[in-house]
Amino acid sequence: MFYYSTKNSNYKVSLEKAVLKGMPDDGGLFMPEKIPIIPDEEFVKLKDLNYKDLSFYLAKLFIDDIPENELRKIIDDAYYFEPPLIYLSDKIGVLELFHGPTLAFKDFGARFMSRLMSFFVKKNNTKLHILIATSGDTGSAIGNAFQNVENINVTILYPSGKISEIQEKQIASLEGNIESLEIDGTFDDCQNLVKRAFIDKELNSVIKLSSANSINISRLIPQIFYYFYGYFQAKFRGEKIVFSVPSGNFGNLTAGLIAFKMGLPVELFIAATNINHVVPDYLKTGVFIPMKSISTISNAMDVGNPNNFDRMLNLFSYDEMKSIIKGFWLNDELTKQAIIDTFNKYKYVIDPHGAIGIKACEDSISNFDNNVFFVSLETAHYSKFMDIVSPLLDKNLTMPDRLKKYLNLPKKSIKLSKDYDELKNHLLKKYS
Ligand SMILES: *Cc1c(COP(=O)(O)O)cnc(C)c1O
Repeated sequence: MFYYSTKNSNYKVSLEKAVLKGMPDDGGLFMPEKIPIIPDEEFVKLKDLNYKDLSFYLAKLFIDDIPENELRKIIDDAYYFEPPLIYLSDKIGVLELFHGPTLAFKDFGARFMSRLMSFFVKKNNTKLHILIATSGDTGSAIGNAFQNVENINVTILYPSGKISEIQEKQIASLEGNIESLEIDGTFDDCQNLVKRAFIDKELNSVIKLSSANSINISRLIPQIFYYFYGYFQAKFRGEKIVFSVPSGNFGNLTAGLIAFKMGLPVELFIAATNINHVVPDYLKTGVFIPMKSISTISNAMDVGNPNNFDRMLNLFSYDEMKSIIKGFWLNDELTKQAIIDTFNKYKYVIDPHGAIGIKACEDSISNFDNNVFFVSLETAHYSKFMDIVSPLLDKNLTMPDRLKKYLNLPKKSIKLSKDYDELKNHLLKKYS
C-alpha cells in the first residue's frame, strides 16, 4: 500500500516514508492510495473479535510492509486498554476513549505511532529525535507514548505557567528518553522555536529531528479501529448507528469517515464542536472560511483551521459530505448546561468535549425512527477538566488514581528562555 499527497495524487511514498516524514513536501497530507473495502463475508466475522484482534485485522489492510508478527507486537504493546461502550439509555451509549495512560483519546494514535516509528528506526539502524511544542494534552500523550521506546528521544516544549497543573505534572515528570523544557513564553513562542529548529541545517546535520504531528498518517489509521469496535458493541441495541464525534482538528472524525468508506454501515456522523464552528458552517453553506481560534472550556477543540479538513475533502464531495455528516456546535454556556443535563438525566459525569457530543445526540433523537442507536465518543476523562466540571455538579468528584499519581511526582523539566540559541545549545550539548 502506498500513500499519496492530497495535493498531488502522483506523489506516492511507502508507509515508512509517510510515517517518518509526517507531511509531504508539497504541503498536502498523506492518504492511503486506496481505501480497503471489507467484503460482507469477512465483515460478519469481525463482530466477535476482541480489541487487539480486530485492530490487527484492520491494520493489516493498510500496512503491508511490516512483517505480520511485528505488526501484531506493535498492537499488543500499544493497546493494553480497550474502549468500552457505556449505555446511558436504550438510545445512547458513550464510547469511552480515555482508558489509556493520559486519559484522552490521543493515546490511541500516539501509542501506535511511537511503536511504528520505533520499528522503522530500528530497521534502518538509525536514531530519531522528536521535537514538539504543546499547549497541554498532546505533550503528555506523545511523551507517554514514546516513554522507553528504543532509539527515539523526545523533547517537549511547553509554555511556563500557561498549562494546567495536572498537564504540567504529566509532562514535566517524564524522564529517560523523554525530556521537557519549560519555556518562558507562550505556546506560539514554543512553536516558533520548534519551527526554527526544523529548518536549522547545522542542528539537523547532527541530530535527526522529526515531528510527531497530529497529521501523521500513523496516528489516523489506529483511530479507525475503535469505530468498528464501537459499532459491533452498539449493534445489539439498534439497527442503525449514529456516531457523534467531538472535533477540533477533525482527525477523529476523518478516521470514522474512512471506516465508513471501508464498509462500516453508519447512518450518520455528527461533527460536534464549540464556537470554532468552521466545519459545521461549511456543511451548511459549502464555503470553508478558516478563522483565528477562540478560547473555550472545550479547549482541545479550539481550532479555527482544522488540519484534517483537506482529508475530508479528499474523501467526499460537498454533497456526499452533507448527506453523511451533520454539523453541531455549542457555546460555553450551553456546554456547561449539557454537562449538568447529562448528569441529571443519566448520572454520568462527562467532560466539556464529550458534553457537546451528547447534546448533539439528544437534539437529533427525535429526527430518527426507533431503530437508531447513538454512540457518542468521549474523548477525555472529566477529571482532566475538574475545575470546569466539579463546580457544576452536586457530587464529590475524585481523580482516578492513574491521574492522581502524577501529582506526587517530582518536576524534572528544565527552564529555558524563548531565545532560540539557548534551545539549540541545549540540544547540541545533550544529544550530539
Ligand atoms: C484532541 C482532542 C479533541 C479533538 O480531536 P480531533 O481529532 O483534533 O478532532 C477532542 N477532545 C479532546 C479531549 C481532545 O484531546
